[in-house]
Amino acid sequence: MKNREKSENVENGIVKVLVTREEVEKTVKRLGSEITRYYDEKETDLLLVGLLRGSFVFLADLVREIKLPLMVDFMSLSSYGDGTVSSGDVKVVMDLDTSIEGRDVLIVEDIVDTGNTFSKVIRMLKNRKPRSLKVCTFLNKPECRIVDVKIDFCGVDIPNEFAVGYGLDYAQKYRNLPYVGVLDPEILEE
Ligand code: 5GP
Ligand code: MG
Ligand code: MG
Repeated sequence: MKNREKSENVENGIVKVLVTREEVEKTVKRLGSEITRYYDEKETDLLLVGLLRGSFVFLADLVREIKLPLMVDFMSLSSYGDGTVSSGDVKVVMDLDTSIEGRDVLIVEDIVDTGNTFSKVIRMLKNRKPRSLKVCTFLNKPECRIVDVKIDFCGVDIPNEFAVGYGLDYAQKYRNLPYVGVLDPEILEE
């Protein structure tokens, strides 16, 4: 590993920090209270659906900021492969284990880019007749939207750059960074 010591807080390969650790924490707390307030009035158990793999870090933090009874399930979709450009072709790799009929469902995503993934998942899950269906994302890239999706609980808007960290990967790495950063373009070209 070259240059590992470059900085105490910023890993090798990261050229810019988009969301600091402190901002991550503040954002997750805010979303947790928004979600708690909203579902508190509905009086049913909430089901959070995490979209793998990117949402696993955010979801783990988020559930601890929601002060209501809830359940968690996961779905895995693929749209990107290992590249950095969305293919627009979204496939279900692993489906839910739980029936969502009659339930209040909140889909949890790491980032909304073109909107393809969310719109596909929303369409698919609506067919299964949940009582309600809302969406929450940690990051949002509004400039990249191709399909219009309504985000009910939104974390941080970021510019059109390829983000990694806090669950987001490049070629399956960097998910463990505790902040969100932009990768050195030289690494993306390798
Ligand atoms: P969409 O379907 O909205 O275009 O993209 C959704 C998925 O693409 C996200 O869940 C995420 O996995 C991936 N994605 C979109 N933008 C980025 C990005 O900036 N960085 C990373 N690592 N993944 C992204
Ligand atoms: Mg994702
Ligand atoms: Mg990915």
